[in-house]
Amino acid sequence: MSDPRAARVVVIGGGFGGLAAAIRLQCAGYAVTLVEARARLGGRASQHREAGFTFDMGPTLITAPELLDDLWAAAGRSRAADLPLVPLRPFYRLLFPDGSRFDYGAGPEADEEQIARFDPRDVAGYGSFLAASERIYARAFADLAGEPFLTPGAFARVVPELLRLGAAQSVYRFTSRHFHDPRLRAVFSFHPLFIGGNPFRASAIYGIVPYLERQQGVHFAMGGMYTLVEAMERLLCDLGAEVRCGTPVEEIIVKDGRAAGVRLADGEIIPAAAVVANSDVATTYRELIPAAHRPPRTLARLARYRYSMSCFLLYLGLNRTYPQLHHHTVLMPARYREHIHAIFDGHGLPDDLALYMHTPTRTDPTMAPPGCESLYALAPVPHLGRGIDWNHAGDVLRARIIQALEEQVGLDDLESSIVVERRFTPVDFATDLRSHLGAAFSIEPTLLQSAYFRPHNRSRDLPGLYLVGAGTHPGAGLPGVLLSAKITSRLVQEDLRAVRARVYSTAV
Ligand SMILES: Cc1cc2nc3c(=O)[nH]c(=O)nc-3n(C[C@H](O)[C@H](O)[C@H](O)COP(=O)(O)OP(=O)(O)OC[C@H]3O[C@@H](n4cnc5c(N)ncnc54)[C@H](O)[C@@H]3O)c2cc1C
Repeated sequence: MSDPRAARVVVIGGGFGGLAAAIRLQCAGYAVTLVEARARLGGRASQHREAGFTFDMGPTLITAPELLDDLWAAAGRSRAADLPLVPLRPFYRLLFPDGSRFDYGAGPEADEEQIARFDPRDVAGYGSFLAASERIYARAFADLAGEPFLTPGAFARVVPELLRLGAAQSVYRFTSRHFHDPRLRAVFSFHPLFIGGNPFRASAIYGIVPYLERQQGVHFAMGGMYTLVEAMERLLCDLGAEVRCGTPVEEIIVKDGRAAGVRLADGEIIPAAAVVANSDVATTYRELIPAAHRPPRTLARLARYRYSMSCFLLYLGLNRTYPQLHHHTVLMPARYREHIHAIFDGHGLPDDLALYMHTPTRTDPTMAPPGCESLYALAPVPHLGRGIDWNHAGDVLRARIIQALEEQVGLDDLESSIVVERRFTPVDFATDLRSHLGAAFSIEPTLLQSAYFRPHNRSRDLPGLYLVGAGTHPGAGLPGVLLSAKITSRLVQEDLRAVRARVYSTAV
């Protein structure tokens, strides 16, 4: 239990960022109340169970597990004891429209053998690519991703070095300098999509994921990603925090120019010394801050940002298995560049299709009834600002996905094997998760929307308000939001200590 005299901190939203910030703040001695609008915690990492099938609805890959270890260590506990992770090999199977395939992350030798089959010159390119990625990783990720970049000066100081490392070029351009084969250029440049980035305009600093994956592996939590949410919830509750689900925050209370608590949908007010918003950044400013305190400059900036693409997800319970599916399988589009352009900047449904398939039953058969398969298929699609009528488009896209799975991935008789089906569309991102424009990953990660240019972890406009999660620095994805939680909780502690010191010095 926390000290009853401890200052209260309210966390709005129980996504990974909100949960991690709550854990860190509760460990630091604050009395944390986490308030989640939906019936269960997890945010994008929610779970659907039906007829013996278990589906992770959003994230599926765990990279950089050291960040989870670090979070557990902050609570004096061992992540490995609470949540064992299984490393996957290969990381994923990539299928190309010409019938070729690449089992990526099968091990250094197996990767090189496959690369040589695509283009022997690219084996050396793979080596130089990893070496260049390692240099970026060592500086941009290991050293800088944990910095808050609250002032232009703090960012300006690191710009020359980032430029020297190639941050001004896109991930695709960076990758193309090392590989000749167009398929390998796609294999080693598509990773920004995992965090809502466009490989043709995300800075090369986002190109480090293949290096990170090779260094730390790609992992799975048996039972699915939701077991990570449950483990974080247990940790938080064991530490003595209060968790309230099914209670949307309607407004952030502002008193004497400071965020001073929250008002829930049922009218209850929870006073707090600090408010940490894990809710969507744009929605927080546009709806949760009272109208009289909404800063016009920030609203204008939020309106100018580019937002990430969205996703269309199909969750399929199948009464048979398909051994050709790996745990993670990716169907690459026929025209990579054009397809990426269509999902970020196009209007209407893209002509082409890229699919990511998650088949957790390959690693954990208990996620479906015996002899059955739990499969999710994700198609990246434009966000809601791109004029697609999802009432109609959903059925069209569903039919195209099933056709592609049958014909291009070779899942014979898929349609007749479906016994459970559910979908999650950009409209659900907007309504269920309150995400601006139904973006799947909030603000798009580009160089000019990163670090100092991204919404800060400490609100610039409202003292006492802090932001955590995908829309703030350093960005989306489990590693990004865990880092944001670490930065945000540090800022809350520094500020509350300073407020306390001021109150104490005026009292004596
Ligand atoms: C389909 C998909 C696949 C992904 N795959 C991966 C992957 O494999 N690996 C990876 O690392 N990342 C992946 N990501 C990215 C990753 O899931 C997200 O970046 C991360 O989970 C976002 O966490 P967050 O802390 O920003 O909170 P969110 O998950 O966005 O949660 C925010 C929470 O706030 C709540 N909330 C909002 N408004 C209110 C309110 N007014 N009152 C109370 N509560 C409120 C919401 O209900 C929600 O629970 C994926 C994302 C998607 C969409």
